[in-house]
Amino acid sequence: MKVFLRTWQEFELEDIEKSLFVIGEINGECFACHTIGIGLKERFCPNCKQEFKYIAFRRKIDGSWLNRFREIHPRACFIEFDDFKKFFSKKEARKLLDI
Ligand SMILES: [Zn+2]
Repeated sequence: MKVFLRTWQEFELEDIEKSLFVIGEINGECFACHTIGIGLKERFCPNCKQEFKYIAFRRKIDGSWLNRFREIHPRACFIEFDDFKKFFSKKEARKLLDI
């Protein structure tokens, strides 16, 4: 029986920043160039052409939702958006302090 379990893994924040597809209710956003309204089945950003290697969800999701996206995006890595946002915000805050 295959199930989805959340795991802890090390990532390069910058790698996620440039290849993250953020999925909302009916379409998605490229995190790198902030293009919105991207079809959920797209594997590349129609604007910056970046491949979506990581996928995060704006809404709370369950297993059936993940199964659906696993079929559409078989190679993508699903990440918890809140985790990513936490570290991204920290990094942005540090950038502001350096100015
Ligand atoms: Zn893009």
